[in-house]
Amino acid sequence: MRHTRAHTRNRRSHHALKGASITKCKKCNEPVLPLTLCLNCGTYKDRELIDVLKKLTKRERKQREKEIKEKEKKESKNKPLELSDLSKK
Ligand SMILES: [Zn+2]
Repeated sequence: MRHTRAHTRNRRSHHALKGASITKCKKCNEPVLPLTLCLNCGTYKDRELIDVLKKLTKRERKQREKEIKEKEKKESKNKPLELSDLSKK
């Protein structure tokens, strides 16, 4: 039996795809799929499961280590700065 156009379109109104839900890595703040190991820093649930630096060449490894150190510095700097700024203002 033939449906009306409205009938068909009403049924199809539920067929749209939803975007993937993306969470942030706790350690490096990189967007990651939920329940998935972070490929940027190799951690999952606060445990380091993959040595990310292993595959890289020496030069790349040095650069990467620098980046990670800078990130950690920024993070450690940001917290006390915010508090001190608040007290100053
Ligand atoms: Zn990460």
